[in-house]
Amino acid sequence: MIGTLDGKTPPGPLEQKWRNHKNNSRLVSPNNRRKFEIIVVGSGLAGGSAAATLGELGYRVKCFCYQDSPRRAHSIAAQGGINAAKNYQNDGDSVFRLFYDTIKGGDFRSREANVYRLAEVSNLIIDQCTEQGVPFAREYGGLLANRSFGGAQVSRTFYARGQTGQQLLLGAYQALCRQIAFGTVKMFPQTEMLDLVLVDGHAKGIIARNLCTGEIQAFAGDAVVLATGGYGNVFFLSTNARGCNVTATYRAYKRGAFFGNPCFTQIHPTCIPVTGHHQSKLTLMSESLRNDGRVWVPKRAEDCAKPPNDIPDGDRDYYLERKYPSFGNLAPRDIASRAAKEVCDEGCGVGPGGRGVYLDFADAISRLSEDTIRERYGNLFDIYQKITAEDAYKTPMRIYPAVHYTMGGLWVDYNLMSNIPGLHVIGEANFSDHGANRLGASALMQGLADGYFVLPYTLPNYLAGQIGKRPSTDHEEFKRVEAEVRARVKKLLEVNGERTLTSFHRELGLLLWDKCGMARNARGLREALEKIPDLRDEFWKKVRVPGEGESYNQSLERAGRIADFLEFAELMCIDALERDESCGGHFREEHQTPDGEAQRDDENFAAVFAWEFQGNGNVERPKLHREPLHFEAVHLSQRSYK
Ligand SMILES: Cc1cc2nc3c(=O)[nH]c(=O)nc-3n(C[C@H](O)[C@H](O)[C@H](O)COP(=O)(O)OP(=O)(O)OC[C@H]3O[C@@H](n4cnc5c(N)ncnc54)[C@H](O)[C@@H]3O)c2cc1C
Repeated sequence: MIGTLDGKTPPGPLEQKWRNHKNNSRLVSPNNRRKFEIIVVGSGLAGGSAAATLGELGYRVKCFCYQDSPRRAHSIAAQGGINAAKNYQNDGDSVFRLFYDTIKGGDFRSREANVYRLAEVSNLIIDQCTEQGVPFAREYGGLLANRSFGGAQVSRTFYARGQTGQQLLLGAYQALCRQIAFGTVKMFPQTEMLDLVLVDGHAKGIIARNLCTGEIQAFAGDAVVLATGGYGNVFFLSTNARGCNVTATYRAYKRGAFFGNPCFTQIHPTCIPVTGHHQSKLTLMSESLRNDGRVWVPKRAEDCAKPPNDIPDGDRDYYLERKYPSFGNLAPRDIASRAAKEVCDEGCGVGPGGRGVYLDFADAISRLSEDTIRERYGNLFDIYQKITAEDAYKTPMRIYPAVHYTMGGLWVDYNLMSNIPGLHVIGEANFSDHGANRLGASALMQGLADGYFVLPYTLPNYLAGQIGKRPSTDHEEFKRVEAEVRARVKKLLEVNGERTLTSFHRELGLLLWDKCGMARNARGLREALEKIPDLRDEFWKKVRVPGEGESYNQSLERAGRIADFLEFAELMCIDALERDESCGGHFREEHQTPDGEAQRDDENFAAVFAWEFQGNGNVERPKLHREPLHFEAVHLSQRSYK
């Protein structure tokens, strides 16, 4: 059964929609704001900026994270930069161009109006963060400096060396601390949301576990905001922080929130390659490096074992420059990743197992000097040396694609509200703006746009009708969901089997990488759909979760997250199978152009797929809702970066 969904895009010309919508949105008066309690789960860039802004506006906010401090959110790992259409470089950038690049980069699978709004508010983010003291790099004249990221022919990426996420997070964190000091925001660190509570169909609270004491508690609010990040760790190996997980969004899905495009995963082309079974995560080498680094492999397979500096220029294949002369090394991530896989599949990969390509700075160093390269990317070269014991100033880096970001997430409308009234979803946790492939430096932009500049305007549309409707945690629904959470924790501890958590997670991850990774096909996806339920059954019979529930127990935390991954992985494969076309990072091998690029099917698949959980505790076939995508300002074309 298929239903249709309305994204509630406001009427009017594209460039006026957001202004008109703000003008027509409902307001909550300053005196009434303090009567509302907003639950914000997550304090990374999206949640931290939202909680700080809502606190500043006068709402009472309860903000949760599972780390010991908001400063440890995965956002801190972001290296390369944040996009904005300031056009400081005078190189022809504009709001429209940023919008167009983003929608084309996403292979025309995102909502036009949302993406335009994102481009519009991008400039406000840079102003606000600069005022907060974020130390963006500057030109000699004092203006903020920019570099280029994939999928763009202008320089619009603002950066703070290779630590942009960390610096932006410090800005959001200090804004959050200000509100904590004022008493408008109460922070609950090391507290993990394990379920969502609905009262009369509205999201009115959460059940969370205090990770230090094991205490399970209920929290009521007038609205719930999920800012819980992405689920790339379903693949076991990814560039995400080890704790990143799907639990909050998946639990909300099981309570009725639709999951949008769960199979849209981003594989980043420039990561340190896998070297063996000892790794528990992978490391990104920022895309910014492709501003100056040149990607190549030996032309002949027999040269692959030679030291790279012994291979003369004429024997190298600078395959991105060859295949995509206009964008060259700055081809978008999905395209650059597939190109790397292709040359490795052809036998020209380098390093262990032939799964690597070179990222070479020799030309840039001779053109600009080693000092300049050190100044631009020094910390990234240091990370590379610490992990590989190789000096990338002297010999090229070896890189290979790895799971990095998830474009899928809970479905939201233009107000960033899910189909459950009151449940809002922001940042990487929602499906919103990146379609089937996110452009580099656009995730930070989206997280901060949602938190600082969109949600504070759209949330009152829901809240204005909710005065006095916050239930107490004594409500029977809170009791019921809390009992279910307790039972689940108990069940995990009672299995008492012999297999480790890591062995289950690794097996699931390898299966997904193989069947639902950089390339997918119907046969492989069906195979995965047969194997995942068996693995899940085995998990519930044989997993070993040491320790107890009433204490600090990291194994128990991981067990809950892996149990959710084991269900969610199935949803990803169902989605990937149903979307019988290629688009962006979703590369169905059956659908490719003669030269191996993704072949979209706009007639049948220009739509968001939003899945509704069916069944009660079982992962039965979910119901598909389609939100048709209408394009007024852009012309749907075959994406070309040649
Ligand atoms: C290595 C790396 C580098 C990157 N570099 C860039 C870049 O240069 N530019 C760019 O634009 N993007 C970059 N990205 C992507 C970007 O960093 C992320 O998409 C973005 O930071 C996500 O922000 P967020 O606030 O949505 O989520 P996160 O920062 O992941 O925050 C999630 C928050 O939710 C909390 N949380 C999660 N689940 C629960 C739960 N159940 N209960 C309680 N709390 C919970 C966490 O504690 C945390 O506070 C990079 C990603 C990686 C992996």
